[in-house]
Amino acid sequence: MIEGLLRGVIHPESGENIVDGGFVDGITAGEGRITVSLRFKKTRDPFAVKLKNQVQTLLEEHYPEMKGNITVFVKEAAPARPVEELRRTTTGGIRHIVAVASGKGGVGKSTVAANLALTLRNMGYRVGLLDADIYGPSQPKMFGCEGYVPEAERIEGYDYIVPVDVKGIKLISIGFFIRPTDALLWRGAMATNALKQLIHQTLWGELDFLLIDLPPGTGDVHLSIISELKVDGAVIVSTPQQVAVADVVRGVEMFRNEKVAIPVLGIIENMAWFTPAELPDHRYYIFGHGGAAAYARSCDVPFLGEIPIIQSIMEGGESGSPAVESDSAVSGFYRQTAEKIVDKLP
Ligand code: ADP
Repeated sequence: MIEGLLRGVIHPESGENIVDGGFVDGITAGEGRITVSLRFKKTRDPFAVKLKNQVQTLLEEHYPEMKGNITVFVKEAAPARPVEELRRTTTGGIRHIVAVASGKGGVGKSTVAANLALTLRNMGYRVGLLDADIYGPSQPKMFGCEGYVPEAERIEGYDYIVPVDVKGIKLISIGFFIRPTDALLWRGAMATNALKQLIHQTLWGELDFLLIDLPPGTGDVHLSIISELKVDGAVIVSTPQQVAVADVVRGVEMFRNEKVAIPVLGIIENMAWFTPAELPDHRYYIFGHGGAAAYARSCDVPFLGEIPIIQSIMEGGESGSPAVESDSAVSGFYRQTAEKIVDKLP
């Protein structure tokens, strides 16, 4: 059945379909998952990524109920290389890396990261999301893929990590590797080493944006993650009552520190107001009003917009389908914010 489908995919150079041309290395299906591995004769076949994406889309179209559990990857047959080359990174195909940070936990940083990722995808960008929140990795739950067990792929003698392709986002989370109860026991070097591995060994492929959901607060773990990568900018999420308090200020200062020197793209005010369903024109500023915009002005940081408290946002996070997927009011707020972020990047 799957093999039959794949016979419809043609390798543009050889003109053969990928099954008869010997490009399909393996197909496994069962337990709600499909995994297809492709193998190309050339070490760097220029059509590899295109064909991989074509197979992914084809399978997702035929098995929409399995979306998120379909993995297509490329195995390359090539000789092993010396150990020094292990240091190379898989981030070379990423155009923009944006860190999503917050002064404190619970302000909605992960929710914002997930919805922003999907908004950028809706805008036509290729998006990846790295959930680096070692203290509470929530992206697997937010995207409904908690059971995903990352596969390793061996390329030229090195092992790489295959991210889950969920809702068109390439997601990898530290939560796929640790039990929630272990997270709090993680300290310094252990967490940093694991995160470095996730950053450099995940098969990101070509991406327009990689969003990093950082742990809340500021500290050594943050510094080591952001120093591993060329981060183009940081977005800081705050609630009205947290803004301008020491935590947010420290967050802005961390990125602005001359040794770090990462542009702060701006502040997003989350939970900015509440509108009850029966009074759609009313905005209750239950946590105060205008603080984030004023703070942003005072420290010369752009203000990226406000996201109100909306029940669908909370429910989306619980049900594995973030609210921008289904609530047009929410997607409108996120769209405005995402456009400002895109504008600020080169
Ligand atoms: P953080 O990553 O900062 O710890 P989360 O993203 O996990 O925070 O959000 C904390 C809680 O607040 C979650 O239950 C989430 O669903 C909820 N939440 C976040 N933003 C909103 C919002 N704008 N409206 C309603 N609920 C929200």
